[in-house]
Amino acid sequence: MPTETFEFQVEARQLLQMMIHSIYSNKDVFLRELISNASDALDKLRLESLRDDALGADVSDLHIDLQADPEARTLTIRDNGIGMTRAEVIDLIGTIANSGTAAFLRNLKDAGDAGDTAAAEGLIGQFGVGFYSSFMVADEVSLLTRRAGERQGTRWVSSGAGTYTVETVDDAPQGTSIVLRLKPEDAEDRLYDYTSPWKLREIVKRYSDFITWPIRLIPGPGEGRDENAPADDADEGTEAGTEEGTDDAARPETLNSMKALWARPRDEVGEEEYHELYKHISHDWSDPLETIRLQAEGTFEYQALLFIPSHAPQDLFLQGYKRGVQLYVKRVFIMDDCEALMPQYLRFVKGVVDAQDLSLNVSREILQQDRQIQLMHRRLAKKVLSTVKDMMTAHPERYATFWREFGRVVKEGLLGDFENRDAILAVASFATTHAQEEPTTLAQYVERMKDGQEHIYYLTGESRQSVENSPHLEAFRDRGIEVLLLTDPVDEVWVDTAPAFDGKQFRSVAKGEIDLGTSEEKEQAESEREQQQEEFAKVLGWMAERLSDHVKEVRLSSRLTSSPACLVSDTHDVTPALENLYRAMGQ
Ligand code: ADP
Ligand code: MG
Repeated sequence: MPTETFEFQVEARQLLQMMIHSIYSNKDVFLRELISNASDALDKLRLESLRDDALGADVSDLHIDLQADPEARTLTIRDNGIGMTRAEVIDLIGTIANSGTAAFLRNLKDAGDAGDTAAAEGLIGQFGVGFYSSFMVADEVSLLTRRAGERQGTRWVSSGAGTYTVETVDDAPQGTSIVLRLKPEDAEDRLYDYTSPWKLREIVKRYSDFITWPIRLIPGPGEGRDENAPADDADEGTEAGTEEGTDDAARPETLNSMKALWARPRDEVGEEEYHELYKHISHDWSDPLETIRLQAEGTFEYQALLFIPSHAPQDLFLQGYKRGVQLYVKRVFIMDDCEALMPQYLRFVKGVVDAQDLSLNVSREILQQDRQIQLMHRRLAKKVLSTVKDMMTAHPERYATFWREFGRVVKEGLLGDFENRDAILAVASFATTHAQEEPTTLAQYVERMKDGQEHIYYLTGESRQSVENSPHLEAFRDRGIEVLLLTDPVDEVWVDTAPAFDGKQFRSVAKGEIDLGTSEEKEQAESEREQQQEEFAKVLGWMAERLSDHVKEVRLSSRLTSSPACLVSDTHDVTPALENLYRAMGQ
């Protein structure tokens, strides 16, 4: 078979360069990434063989093997999972599909150019680099794979420098094996001794203990045949050692406990372990902001382990963003991105739900209609919101991060999830005229309301600066009345549908008649206004006539103190910013 050479896609090449030059200081994570991929491949094989009898793959002994050769300085990671076709190898390994990549790489390059390694690491941590992280430790990576159900396999080899080769192979075992030729410059450094059983044990325990498949340490090629080996080892060697490699499977050591974290008692599991599970399922390299556990007993039993990430993914607002948590049935992985379990506005939540009473063959369509699943969906949404509520008092800085990263998404819930509207308003915070930097919660706003103030005032617009300069704010400023400054497009829509918080209605300072002040003040103002209305009747009539194509009405206002005039909408009209939004949406 001829060997073909391909070039990496530009983005992939840039990323590889950064891996080769190891801008990420914790190189050990390469093994976590390769094990994570192998585990996914085993999950996929088991699922596919459940659904497709004709696949003909053996799923009785699925596992991940690690085998080191200290002499040759290689480390092999092998799984007998789903494998990849030749086209998949080129597609999945040669390119980066993630849509946010270009922007990410630009930032990364800037940070790298500026010599800011901390910033670069932060970015890599947010993005995760998966398979490519092997180039942090290897100067050549060779991958041999055969997809279940296919006859021929594929070998992929690269040193990470611009090109890779692909070759069709006749006698590849099913699954994927990856051989890393470890960098010679790390040979003397015990910190990077990835051929030492001790080191491998330690990494697997730390990062991959919960993986539900056995991760086995296979003795290296020379081991057991070594003349210095202890006598009992040598005995074994005479029994099976005549045929090379046949005794490997008989003596592997399983490195992980394989226990599902969500099924273990809470006090037995360390925070770090939860975090590693989060990284495995989210492909994120940074710790989550919050871990949420939930156990439901009774007629419909399930366990949930949910995570709120510490940063929004690049594609959170893009069309194809996949929401939802992983679904397991009795410890068996069933599907990723199970959208029936999470509302759209909590689409950033990651995690695992393990249900006891579902069929292993359950489909997305069935899940959407299942009443028990709908109940679970509601319960999970409430639990996430109540966790955020608790975070507000227990960890205000975490909450601030949460709202900065996800507030815009959460507010979408105000448009559809009426059952949780109060809960969402309770965890929301907004920019305000009260403080330049600090956002305010509605509860804090209500606490600061002036005597006689009945409403929660707000002003919508495109940016903080544009709303701050709005003439609509003048009278409120003068009277020291706080106004919320709402500048996300979604704000325009929900303020119209959320009638009240704590019994106080939301009122736009840019719409309709606004009464400020106490009742005496109001009476006085009213009589003054009537008087003025008479005085100015002629002018107003003339203006209304001249402007009749553009405005409905011209009236005297008490809301301005220094600007001569301003445009207002009727209480039920759309605001100018919303007009823009609709226009942008093509309506
Ligand atoms: P991610 O896991 O985030 O998708 P990776 O770079 O780790 O990104 O892997 C890219 C893709 O390559 C995976 O999504 C998977 O489809 C494929 N892949 C990687 N390793 C394996 C493997 N051991 N077996 C089968 N497919 C694999
Ligand atoms: Mg991966």
